[in-house]
Amino acid sequence: MQKLFVFVISFLCVALSSANAQNYPTKVVTMIVPFAAGGPTDTVARLLGGPMTKTLKQQIIVENVGGAGGTIAANRVAKATPDGYTILIHHIGMSTAPALYRKLAYNPLTDFEPIGLINEVPMTLVAKKDFPAKDLKELIAYVKANKNKVNYANAGVGAASHLCGMIFMSAIQTEVTTIPYSGTGPAMNDLLGGQVDFMCDQTTNTTSQIKAEKIKVYGVTTKKRVPSLPNVPTMDEAGLKDFEVSIWHALYAPKGTPKPVIDTLTKALQVALKDPTVKQRFGDLGTEPVSEDRATPESLRKHLKSEIDRWGPIIKKAGVYAD
Ligand code: ASP
Repeated sequence: MQKLFVFVISFLCVALSSANAQNYPTKVVTMIVPFAAGGPTDTVARLLGGPMTKTLKQQIIVENVGGAGGTIAANRVAKATPDGYTILIHHIGMSTAPALYRKLAYNPLTDFEPIGLINEVPMTLVAKKDFPAKDLKELIAYVKANKNKVNYANAGVGAASHLCGMIFMSAIQTEVTTIPYSGTGPAMNDLLGGQVDFMCDQTTNTTSQIKAEKIKVYGVTTKKRVPSLPNVPTMDEAGLKDFEVSIWHALYAPKGTPKPVIDTLTKALQVALKDPTVKQRFGDLGTEPVSEDRATPESLRKHLKSEIDRWGPIIKKAGVYAD
């Protein structure tokens, strides 16, 4: 009798959750941004939010949960109810955190359902306006000569700004003091105010400040120049051979989110990536949406795994760890 009761209850739960999944979404969806408002990840999230809201016919709300290089937010989504009402936008940090953190509370590969890739974004090495170095070679010489004086802003261990800074410092074999922020939005405010010296950040956050000449730029971190910043050399051209970091963003839901829900979110993402305003704004900010076949769970799963495999040994070699 008791067995029958348990069976009926489980059957009803499954039937109810699959009915809910078919009707999804029936209320607001929260997209968690793992960094502070006003930064590059936040910009991408807010650009996608409008068109995704239109497709889903339910509001997407962006919530900023900054700190610990994005790992606090990722952990929160990993532990959230897997019903499609809490999703995560994250970047390359999803693949670097496992090597950077000794005690990561989640597993990027097994605690999430991938929804799809969004874009690839170049980074730029930038400094406060009156920084006394006019090009990359001068910057390197200055940093080496003043390593106890200069400081570098980042968004915590695991952030893209951390990764880029780590590779830069290892390339020039010089460590400087790092100032961690909850996102490079607030870090940019301090760079503009001259309270910090330099940082490496996505073009989605630096392009307008570079164009307005409010900050100095030394190079873009991709192999090729960026069309929206045609006069900025690549780091390789500017003197640091083979310096290459490309950041990517993607969407995730907690593990166990029903497949029909993931399919609905993937479709909404694909529609948003074709939206003319999104394409235009992405282009202005030096990035572009991935093609539809890459904005899928399968493609993201593969990409995440290959990025974890790629960055793990590089980070281990650099010997950088956090607890
Ligand atoms: N994406 C930035 C970084 O990783 C942080 C941010 O979006 O604010 O440094």
